[in-house]
Amino acid sequence: MTGASVKVAVRVRPFNSRETGRNAKCVIQMQGNTTCISNPKQLKDGAKNFTFDYSYWSHTTAEDPSFACQKQVYKDIGEEMLLHAFEGYNVCIFAYGQTGGGKSYTMMGKQEPGQEGIIPQLCEDLFQRTGGNSDPDLNYSVEVSYMEIYCERARDLLNPKSQGTLRVREHPILGPYVEDLSKLAVTGFTDIRDLMDAGNKARTVAATNMNETSSRSHAVFTIVFTQQRRDQMTGLDTEKVSKISLVDLAGSERADSSGAKGTRLKEGANINKSLTTLGKVISALAEMQSNKKRKSDFIPYRDSVLTWLLKENLGGNSRTAMIAALSPADINYEETLSTLRYADRAK
Ligand code: ADP
Repeated sequence: MTGASVKVAVRVRPFNSRETGRNAKCVIQMQGNTTCISNPKQLKDGAKNFTFDYSYWSHTTAEDPSFACQKQVYKDIGEEMLLHAFEGYNVCIFAYGQTGGGKSYTMMGKQEPGQEGIIPQLCEDLFQRTGGNSDPDLNYSVEVSYMEIYCERARDLLNPKSQGTLRVREHPILGPYVEDLSKLAVTGFTDIRDLMDAGNKARTVAATNMNETSSRSHAVFTIVFTQQRRDQMTGLDTEKVSKISLVDLAGSERADSSGAKGTRLKEGANINKSLTTLGKVISALAEMQSNKKRKSDFIPYRDSVLTWLLKENLGGNSRTAMIAALSPADINYEETLSTLRYADRAK
C-alpha cells in the first residue's frame, strides 16, 4: 500500500457448475497485481488492464503457486487491518461484486479446515494475540454485533427476539449508531463462531420469511476492540477503542428493471443507492488521500444508511480494504467489467 487509505484487491473464483455446463470461456487473466479482462465479443483490442494492490487468481488447482488460498487473502488483507486495529485505528473490510462472485466465501468462507474466510480468521488471530498478554497493566475487551441492512433499514442478527427493524440515530459525540442493536461481550473465538452461526441462520430465515434473498442485503459484522492501559504512576486508565467492520455487501448486479415492480423495484433502487454512495465516498476519500481533494470537501456519508453507519470506519482515523469478487466466465463479462471499474475507482 502506497500511503493510500484504501487497499483494493480483486479475486476471481473458479468456474461454477453452471458455467462449466455452458462451456463458458475464461475472460480474466492475472499477472502480478494486474488483472486483464477481454471482451468475448471483440477479439481484437477488446482487452482492458487494471492494476490493484492484489489480484487473486484461483481459477486453477491448489497446487499452482499462483493459487490464492483463504490463508493468503487473510495474511495480505485481514492481518494488516487487524494490526491497524491494535494501533488504535478503526478498520473496515468489505466485499463487493455480483451475487455468486465469491463475497461470502471471501468474508465468511466455509467451516472446513483451510476454507475459513477473513472474518473467522481475523477473530481467531485477535484472540491468539490478546491471549498471550502477560502485562498486568493491559486489559483487552471484545464486543461484537451483527446486523443486516435491507432497504435502508437495519435488522439485528444476534437477537432472535428482535423481529422488526431498528432505528439509526446519531450521537452528538460518538456519531451514528443503531438503536437497541445487541452488543455482546465475547472472550474467545468459539463464542464468536457460535454467534456468527446463529446470526447467519437468522439472516436466511428472515430473508425467506420476507420473500427476499440474503444477496439483497448488506451483512455488517462489527467488533469493538478495547485496549485499556493502567498507568502505574498515576493509577489512571487510558483506553484505545477500535471498531472493526467486516461487510459482505449486497449483490452489485443491476436489478432487472423490466420485470421489477413494487418491492423489487424499491429494493433494487435501495441497493444501488447504497453501493453507489459507498463508491462515491470511497473514491472521494481516495482522492483526498492523494491530495486531489481538500479535507473540507463534502463526502456524502449521509446519502445511505450503510455509509452513514460506516462513517467512523471509512474516513478520518481509519483504514479500509475492499475485495472485489469476480466470476471468470464470459457469460458474466458485463457484470465483471463493471465490478472492476468500481474497484478501480476506489484506488
Ligand atoms: P456471493 O457471496 O458473492 O454471492 P459466494 O461466496 O456464495 O458468492 O460464492 C458462490 C460459490 O462459489 C460458493 O459455492 C463458493 O463456495 C464458491 N467460491 C467462491 N469463491 C471461491 C474461491 N475463491 N475458491 C473456491 N470456491 C469459491
